[in-house]
Amino acid sequence: MNFCYNLNIDSSRSVYYIKSGGKRLGLREEEIEAIVFPQEIRIFRLSCKILGKTVNFPGIMCLHNDARGPYKGGIRISDDVDIAETVELARLMTLKTAISDIEFGGGKTGINVNWNCMYELYNRKPIDIEFEKIVRLDIVEYFAQMYRDIFKSHIYIPAPDLGTGPEEMAFIYNETLDPASVTGKPEGVHGWLPGRRESTGYGCAFITKKFLQECLNKNVRGATIAIQGFGNVGSYLAKYLYEDGAKIIGITDSYGGVYDEKGINIPALIEYVKKNGTVSGFSSNSLTNEDLFSLPADVLIPAATGNVINSEVAKKIRAKGIVEAANNPITLDGMNVIEERKIPVIPDIIANSGGVIASMEEYSRSLSALKTKKEEVFSIIEEKLQQGFENSLRVSKELNINICESAIQIALERIYKAMKNRRYI
Ligand code: NAD
Repeated sequence: MNFCYNLNIDSSRSVYYIKSGGKRLGLREEEIEAIVFPQEIRIFRLSCKILGKTVNFPGIMCLHNDARGPYKGGIRISDDVDIAETVELARLMTLKTAISDIEFGGGKTGINVNWNCMYELYNRKPIDIEFEKIVRLDIVEYFAQMYRDIFKSHIYIPAPDLGTGPEEMAFIYNETLDPASVTGKPEGVHGWLPGRRESTGYGCAFITKKFLQECLNKNVRGATIAIQGFGNVGSYLAKYLYEDGAKIIGITDSYGGVYDEKGINIPALIEYVKKNGTVSGFSSNSLTNEDLFSLPADVLIPAATGNVINSEVAKKIRAKGIVEAANNPITLDGMNVIEERKIPVIPDIIANSGGVIASMEEYSRSLSALKTKKEEVFSIIEEKLQQGFENSLRVSKELNINICESAIQIALERIYKAMKNRRYI
């Protein structure tokens, strides 16, 4: 088996770690390539009629690897979606489902929407939450119609990601009328799961507490936290840490940020964001993203988007540790600086896996029609996260590699085994 291509989709941090992990495990070069390279990429154009105008949006669906189970991954709607990013996010899902030991593979959908252009086209002023909602829902409705068959046959099971949420998932269910064809459905829709909405943030708060205890020798009570992003993940993560006594000293989003050295009142901020669509203006102490990354917090949690910590940003970080709530927030060169500076990092494939663990539960409950409680879902998330965290910490110490590398190596072993058993390689 040979790979001869010149596509810029394999130069990311995960690929670098897959390659080094694969070599440590004694895999052949072509076997490593087969794990790195996606099984299928679909490029599509959605032609959507929105509020009387027809608008076209490009999209990418990456079906990365299904050796361990159906392709699983969120639908992202954002203005910086591209092919390389979508492939990387799909690959991270393959690794995430493997380290979490759940029976899914990895996939991802990215739909590119230029919001500035949309506001101009419709003669509206940002931020218009209602307008954005209409656009997102319409886009997902068209997308669901286009790919109904692959959802209905459980080849690829989508979920929410940046820019989409439970309401969009209900539109997919409307098309398939199959509760197991999509996860992250809203309360009351056939097959919905209590706790799914909060699951990623809950899992991330849980792992931050473990990280504080086991790697930073600190209790969550009084620990200082800085968070980038206050959407689904960032807001629940902040809420659960706040309830456990942590001091959230800085939060930023796309429009601005807030700072309070005594700790931000998170329930009040959540209410403010519901009305205003941003954390900006919540208090007179504003904060830029740049300042957020250099706050002297115990833990820095990027929970917004990818590639925000490069080598330059990494040099300025003053936090004692980092938890990757967002997917791929630290670039490879950023990671090299962070490693040199001996700042421990909990990787995305562990830190934000609460969502896909809950999705596994939602999927299996949808197939069996058995109801469950939020507490049960949270306890499954804790068990899976704890196991992934402890295994990765152990291998990291044994092999003297960072936790991001050890988590990927454990995932790699499981993916390789499944691919071998299914004669994919
Ligand atoms: P969201 O759309 O609900 O919220 C994103 C937040 O990040 C918003 O506050 C937004 O203003 C902010 N943001 C976006 N770009 C930014 C930038 N350049 N600078 C500063 N702030 C910015 O998205 P989400 O669902 O909370 O997802 C956040 C991250 O977590 C993404 O990387 C996503 O892939 C990852 N993730 C989400 C889930 C999930 O269940 N939602 C699961 C796993 C991983």
